Order: sequence, then structure tokens, then C-alpha cells
Amino acid sequence: MAGRYHSTRGAGVVVDAKAAILEGLAADGGLFVSDDVLDAHLDLAALGLEANSEVDYLAHARQVLSLLIPAYTSEEIERAVASAYGASFSDPKITPLTPFGCDWRLELFHGPTCAFKDVALQMLPRLVEIALATSDAATAGERVLILTATSGDTGKAALAGFADVDRTAIVVFYPEGLVSDVQRLQMVTQPGANVGVTAVAGTFDDVQTAVKRVFSDRALEARLAERGITLSSANSINVGRLVPQVVYYVDAWCQLVRAGKVGADEEIDFFVPTGNFGDILAGYLAKRLGLPVGRLCICSNANDVLVDFLATGVYDRRREFKKSISPSMDILVSSNLERLLYYESDGDCELVASLMADLAEKGCYTVPERVMERIRATFTAGRTDDDATRAAIKRAWEEDGILIDPHTGVGASVMAASEPEGRSRVLLSTASPFKFPADVLLALGAPEERSGFAAMEALARLTGVEPPAELAALADAAVRFDGAIAPADAVAFVEAEAERLLP
Ligand SMILES: *Cc1c(COP(=O)(O)O)cnc(C)c1O
Repeated sequence: MAGRYHSTRGAGVVVDAKAAILEGLAADGGLFVSDDVLDAHLDLAALGLEANSEVDYLAHARQVLSLLIPAYTSEEIERAVASAYGASFSDPKITPLTPFGCDWRLELFHGPTCAFKDVALQMLPRLVEIALATSDAATAGERVLILTATSGDTGKAALAGFADVDRTAIVVFYPEGLVSDVQRLQMVTQPGANVGVTAVAGTFDDVQTAVKRVFSDRALEARLAERGITLSSANSINVGRLVPQVVYYVDAWCQLVRAGKVGADEEIDFFVPTGNFGDILAGYLAKRLGLPVGRLCICSNANDVLVDFLATGVYDRRREFKKSISPSMDILVSSNLERLLYYESDGDCELVASLMADLAEKGCYTVPERVMERIRATFTAGRTDDDATRAAIKRAWEEDGILIDPHTGVGASVMAASEPEGRSRVLLSTASPFKFPADVLLALGAPEERSGFAAMEALARLTGVEPPAELAALADAAVRFDGAIAPADAVAFVEAEAERLLP
């Protein structure tokens, strides 16, 4: 059935894309998937592959969204795309592809909050708004409360996307002390009458678990429903987050073909700094839709659970959490891997449900070898550490004059260590270096003492590169949210915020 979504853990309940986006997570705790990616196909010819083509990012977005969320009419998609990818991006190409040594770099940080999450989170609020106005699932007057756990970048990007959007409110949870100064300031200074932010004592995994617990609290759900409020998510577990990310893989390939760098049927490889497995899963979906993608390389920092998983078939989260200089990837439970397991087991919901039960009960699961073989046919993986990441940042600056952030640095480090296979290679560059100025300065060999704005200014002085205006402006912004809660208080906090933000 075209455009139908169901849980990774059971295909019994079927909803359309609008309902999947409004609900965020399936009722059984699984993630929404659609089997359409298995038989839908990109129309490569319509992507505008000739030099001087006028077919642009927006047109690519319209094609991908029409394929993956067909519950939205073409007029609705056109409206959402035009409003998401307008003046809020500082580059007219949205995600420009630029040379990076002998390879390429896809610049995903030109949105309003300077991280790749903007590409999806400028779109998601539009999709929610339209679904609220038109979906059968949305009853009259229904409102949505968005809950978001963030490892640092999703929170601000979601706040910026949802601030003052009609009939919505948003509450963001971030791990206390585990995001950069600039990331924290971006969130706690967020303007808007419908926003709330709190620190949570614990790691990102603790925060994500607390949020998942709020979602599965049936009593809370019932009390909020009485007031016409539905909970949803802005994390990459939401279909509306994932689908817009497929677009830039398609667009990147088109940019290379148009520039005459690869042929119109030639495969390219992507290197993806990975945490929750959302970004790289979008690349997998692009490949399943027929984009000529060779390999997708999972690039991990010291939290290398996915690298071990690919090698052994055992996903084991029972390991020490390591705080790194790439905090948005400090994650031990990569939620979107569940979707890959679904697709590569040919939709075996029973298998996925039992693996996820193992993860919840034992902290690990083992994937059958036949599924692992298929995963390894597409995915490779590499790990790096903070020292090698700093070295990659320094090398990019000194050899190529390119300033990269520590997450991109993880990818650059893994890419440098991996044997080229003859295909063009694209590194996904996921954030502006000015979100992590103290660590970037240190990597460049500058003294360590600074933090926050002093570091931003020092980095600009040292390199002659201008910080994005949005980040520089934080110096004068007032702090609105300075609270912290324990994970156990998440349900009570959400209920109080629902009262405050959606009276
Ligand atoms: C979120 C994030 C990542 C990891 O992306 P996932 O979709 O969680 O794998 C990498 N780099 C930056 C800068 C991020 O904000």
C-alpha cells in the first residue's frame, strides 16, 4: 500500500505519513517504517544532471518527499519545501559540495543553528503544521507537544524550527555538563512563547531513555489527550526528521554529476560522523531509492559501539560512556539502527521486536549472520579518538585551508585512514567549527584557557574566518532557562510544561 507506515516491531497497525509524523514513535515503542522505499524509485533523469541545470535543491526535495511521504499533496510539499529552504539558510545551494583534499565535503551547516539538523528541523515543523490542519488523525483543535532529547545540536535546531509555530509547543532535554558552552547558550537563550528547555542529570542515553519513558506513559497520554494535546518527537526517530535528510545525499550526487566529476551512473561513497544513526540511515534510504551509492562509512569517536557491532554482529551497550570533543556523537544506543535491522531482515518485525527486548533487558543483542552479511555489503565503519580528531582538524586547516568542527574531524580522520576503493568520496560536514571553538583552537595548537565567546573570537582572529552571525549574537542574548531535573522527574516536568505552554 503506497505511503503506509507501521512499527518496526509489528505491521498490524498501519497509518499514513501524516499520522506517523504527528505520533513520532509507534505505540509499541517501535519506529515507524514504510515498505515503499523497497519499490519506489528516484527519477534520476528528472534531477537535472546536465551542467547549468536549473533543477535545484528544492526540486530534489520535492521529488524525495513525494516518494516517501505521499500522504502530503504535491501542493503541500511544495509549500513546506519553499518555506523550509528559504532565507533561513545562508547558502543558496542549501548544502553546497566543496573540494576537500582529493575528496569532497558536503557542507550541511548553513542553516539557522549551524548544524546539519537544521536541514530536517526547518522542514519538520511545516510537516507537523500541515498534518495538524489536514490529517484524518488530527481532531479539531488538537495540539502537539514536541519532546526532544538532545546530545547538543538537535535541541537548538528543533527550538528554532518550532518557536511560535501555531498549535505546537516544544520541550528540550539536554545532558547536564555534556554539551559545549555555545550549544548550551544557543538553547537556553531561545526566544518564543511556546518553548521550554531543561538540563537533565545524566548522559544523552539517560536523557533519551527518560524521554522514551514519557512517551510510553499511558496515564500521562490520557491526561494530555483530555486537553487535546498529543506528544510527538523531533528526534530522528520521527519520520519527518529522516525523510528531509535523504535529500542532501541525492543533491550531493547531482552536484558531482553536474560538475562532470562522476558519470551519471557512477556510484559514490559517503563518510558519515555517526551518533544516533539517523544521518547515515538517510543515506541508506537514498541508496534503496536507487541513488548510485557505493559504501556508507560509519565514522565513530571513542563511543565505538557501532564499529564493534559491524565487526561482530553483537550490539553491546554495556560499556563505559566516554566524553569526547565530538559530544553530539557521544551515544551508546543508536536508535535508528532499529530501522536498518527491519529493512535488512526483509521486514522481520518479530526479529526486530525480540532484539529490542534483548537490548532493554540485557543491554545487548546478537543479529543473525545472514542479516549482518547484507548490512556489511553496504556499510563499513571506522573509529577514531580525540587526538586523531584534533590532528585531522589541524591537517585540514594547514594543508587545505579548511576549518572543520570536531564531528567533521571524526569523519575526516576515519576517511584519511581508510583505503580508497576507486570511487569518489564525500565527507558529511555536520557542524560549524564555531559551535566548538575551544576544542578547535586547541586542535590548531592555540592555548587552551578560553571558553565560549572568548574562544569564538580567538578562533576568528587566528584563522581570519568569520563566525556565523547567529553564534556571534549569543554574546548579548539573555538566559531564559537555567533549570536542571533528575531523569525520574521527566514525566512531572513534561506535564507542568504542557500546562504552562499550552494552557
Ligand atoms: C547529531 C550530530 C551527529 C550525529 O548524527 P546522527 O544522526 O545522530 O548519527 C554528527 N555531528 C553533529 C554535529 C551532530 O549534531
